[in-house]
Amino acid sequence: MSRTVYVNGEWVAEENAKVSVFDRGYLFADAIYEVTAVANGRLIDFTGHAARLARSLEALGIKPPVTNDVLKTLHFEIIRRNELTNGLIYLQISRGAEDRDFLYSASLEPTIVMFTQARNVLANPRWETGISVATVPEGRWSNRQIKTVQLLYSSMAKMEVQRKGADDALFVEDGFITEGTSNNFHIVTSDGKLITRALSNALLHGITRSSILDIAEKNGIPTEQRSFTPDEAKSAAEAFITSAGVFVMPVIAIDGQKIGDGKPGPISQKLRSLYIQHSIDTSEGP
Ligand code: PMP
Repeated sequence: MSRTVYVNGEWVAEENAKVSVFDRGYLFADAIYEVTAVANGRLIDFTGHAARLARSLEALGIKPPVTNDVLKTLHFEIIRRNELTNGLIYLQISRGAEDRDFLYSASLEPTIVMFTQARNVLANPRWETGISVATVPEGRWSNRQIKTVQLLYSSMAKMEVQRKGADDALFVEDGFITEGTSNNFHIVTSDGKLITRALSNALLHGITRSSILDIAEKNGIPTEQRSFTPDEAKSAAEAFITSAGVFVMPVIAIDGQKIGDGKPGPISQKLRSLYIQHSIDTSEGP
């Protein structure tokens, strides 16, 4: 079945959804994006995603093509038009299209595209097995808090570690873990404390990360925001990643070394079920 895609104010069949080859998103990765999960036809953590989108646009000086209210309406509308029950909504805004030049004109109209991906976000079979990751040097640019589409290094790193048998790559900079290719990375100490890197330009400010920290605190799981090394992570009791796509995914091995007993840990699993409950309680529908 062909999806209905949103392109610059129009709803079109996916085979007719086109943007210009002169688009600066295509030529310069001059674009930002968001991915929001949909469960039971309702948006999860939309407020956080809309706020980060506004920050990313502001950081690049791209004028918001639509207001926040219209953005939410468009999200509801794309769910309705695609009869999406569970899945993801991908939204990308680029600075716009004009003849190629490093310098861009002030009058450029942003390009906005949205599409859906159906996926059972509420029942990921890998939640039961966990995933493995492998460390790679941090080679992305230095403003990772902006959610740009500059994902080439991340894509190359993930391809490389998959060839070596890991499920995802974990970036390391100056001896400390920053995050995963498309997720934030966390560990749990033997006394049950959740440790996650503090926010800075070194990593994307994950919306799921922020919700998980709130949920942990409210449920008596202590948290600490600080940097940690791959060695500390490898000897942690548990490790897990978070993102809108996988919610809370246990990590059971790093660079081939087992974490804990090599199985998804109890705190990771508890946080996942609490996050699913949070998503049901706070999700938004039309
Ligand atoms: N870090 C990076 C580099 C990401 O691409 C993502 C997913 N977009 C995340 C972290 C997790 O962010 P969120 O919880 O908002 O999906």
